[in-house]
Amino acid sequence: MDHAGRQTRLQNLLASHRLDALLITHPANVRYLCGFTGSAGALVITEPRVVFFTDGRYTEQARAEVQEARTLVSRKTPLASAGDWLTANGRKPGLKAVGIEGEHLTVAEQIRLKEALPPGIRLRESPPLVERARMVKDENEIARLRAAAVLGASLFDVALKTIRPGIKENEVAAEMEYAARQSGAEGMSFETIVAAGPRSALPHGRASSAPIPPRGFVVCDFGVILAGYCSDMTRTVHVGSPGVQEHRMYEAVREAQQAAVGAIRPGVGVAQIDRVARKILQGKGLGKYFTHSTGHGVGLEIHEAPRVAAGQTEDLQLGMAITVEPGVYLPEVGGVRIEDLVVVTERGAEILAPASKELITI
Ligand code: ZN
Ligand code: ZN
Repeated sequence: MDHAGRQTRLQNLLASHRLDALLITHPANVRYLCGFTGSAGALVITEPRVVFFTDGRYTEQARAEVQEARTLVSRKTPLASAGDWLTANGRKPGLKAVGIEGEHLTVAEQIRLKEALPPGIRLRESPPLVERARMVKDENEIARLRAAAVLGASLFDVALKTIRPGIKENEVAAEMEYAARQSGAEGMSFETIVAAGPRSALPHGRASSAPIPPRGFVVCDFGVILAGYCSDMTRTVHVGSPGVQEHRMYEAVREAQQAAVGAIRPGVGVAQIDRVARKILQGKGLGKYFTHSTGHGVGLEIHEAPRVAAGQTEDLQLGMAITVEPGVYLPEVGGVRIEDLVVVTERGAEILAPASKELITI
């Protein structure tokens, strides 16, 4: 769907949420709706109009990128100019209720905006309408996600070539990130995780200056940004020969991950996917060591809706892109996580960058 289509879909939702306008300030949402990739931008959407606000630093960029919206450049902040526009245009179209993205406006910004608006205009926190629209990816977005996932997956080969006892986690991450840039990535979608030995039991163990010990798991979790879209993948390798416990741990996570991927199809609840992974680990006495949710949506942002977790009520839909990443973390011993990025298809799940999940020993 092009930008005009995305905007129209949002305009069609305004009335049913009793909103006369929507003020979009979250950069990923602004980008999704009009193409602007800069950091200083705001978008006002009313039924007949879409107006984009930015400041003087972004004049050229806005001209090159913004689609299907009138651009207003001002010396003020985009938020202040949006406030001015709402004040000036509010009377005629009967603009009374303006939806804001409460998660993305500070309290100070909300107060300032409120003070700038005439008393007839009320600000209301909008439901996350753009985030909901973004959950389902169109063909063009899936192509971008796939390209990012394939580039991202190639970094695992770099990790395999680099990991050896004594080398610092940081050095492994640096090699991976250098290769990513060399291959055209715009950046990493999050700080590369290389967590070795006992540190592999930290689910978010960013690469540190710790050297890789002579024996133990190494969790590598990494992703790139390509054409705006993020990738996310985890593989766990073992340095030195794994013992019985390590084999058991690894195979349990692999089984849980594959079962969860296998359970994906349109109409299935995200909580059910989480349950499938959790049940397998529970059956092997490892349930309490699986301390995070099973996955998350991925797109313009590395973490977006839906969350694949217990208690979530979202059902999977065709075109959703989610990660499946169960893990088991034994404190002070080590951890295993296996993660793929998948798209929900009619037949089930398509892993965007299929790669072996056999336990690799270094
Ligand atoms: Zn990840
Ligand atoms: Zn992830």
